[in-house]
Amino acid sequence: MLRAFVTGVNGQDGSYLVERLVDAGYEVHGLIRPVDVSAAVPVPGVVNHPGDLLDSERVADLIRDIQPDEIFNLAGISSVARSWAEPVITGQISGAAVGSLIHAAWQVGEASGKQVKFIQASSAEIFGNPQISPQDESTQIAPITPYGAAKAYGHHLVNVYRSRGLFAVSLVLYNHESPRRPPSFVTRKITQTVTRIARGTAAELVLGNLDARRDWGWAPDYVDAMVRAAAHDEPQDYVIATGVAHSVRDFVAAAFGAVGIQDWQERVRVDSAFVRPTDALEQVGDATRARTALGWSPTLGFDEIVARMVQTDLTAFDTDQPV
Ligand code: GDP
Repeated sequence: MLRAFVTGVNGQDGSYLVERLVDAGYEVHGLIRPVDVSAAVPVPGVVNHPGDLLDSERVADLIRDIQPDEIFNLAGISSVARSWAEPVITGQISGAAVGSLIHAAWQVGEASGKQVKFIQASSAEIFGNPQISPQDESTQIAPITPYGAAKAYGHHLVNVYRSRGLFAVSLVLYNHESPRRPPSFVTRKITQTVTRIARGTAAELVLGNLDARRDWGWAPDYVDAMVRAAAHDEPQDYVIATGVAHSVRDFVAAAFGAVGIQDWQERVRVDSAFVRPTDALEQVGDATRARTALGWSPTLGFDEIVARMVQTDLTAFDTDQPV
């Protein structure tokens, strides 16, 4: 039986990942911030350990005690928008803390002789405003946001420890969405607000940059890529993306379309409060390596993702759950 240690268990990706690992027969341990323990929804079969990623001694002790076969690092300040307001904590959690985890993984491997695999959730934000399209594993790392810079540090550390002999993998994940996405991200903000507009409890949708183009995939597919990368015999980095970009405006149109509203333009307003200091024009990834080496491919396209998110919000609204 494989044993996994997962950080960020109560986030979108963490929740999908631990469910997937339990189904696959893993023994699953999670790291959860003490402040999040009471609100966390327990997943049967997952042992959650309270601890802060910034407490490197606690993290090292846990990894020594658990002796995991695979470590998945999904914790982080995952919002680019928030990273502008809080660059230091973003650097500490999404960047420097990767060092505690990966060093502990390496030490356990050295002390016990067993192979410890380290899987890092990296981000397309490491490429900044890329000069080539689509991007792949050879694209220059040149972040333009504090979040991207923190993630770039983590990505480089993975490569450093891989050179040192650790089975370490960095997955360069493009945006990936689901009904579990928090509304601080544009997709869920759109589907929730469109639901309220459709049901008459909101009048308008207020957004920032409508022209940004992103490669939006389905979050459970991205978790599937992590498990496949850990099971592969060679550690290497992978771009995980659908290869298709859509604008924020396209997402808005598709969400309104899903509730039968065609004349949506007058219901959308741009407010500079939601426009970022810098924002990549377009991110779109080439996942050929993951397709070839891991047999990975996305299962859901853009329209289906939007439709599922809208449907979940409509159902929640209509069954008296707050949306
Ligand atoms: P992230 O940038 O990967 O954290 O993902 P987001 O979902 O937060 O943002 C995706 C894109 O949507 C970015 O280009 C944002 O600038 C753009 N965007 C436009 N309006 C909004 C908004 O109101 N909220 C957020 N979060 N993003 C917005």
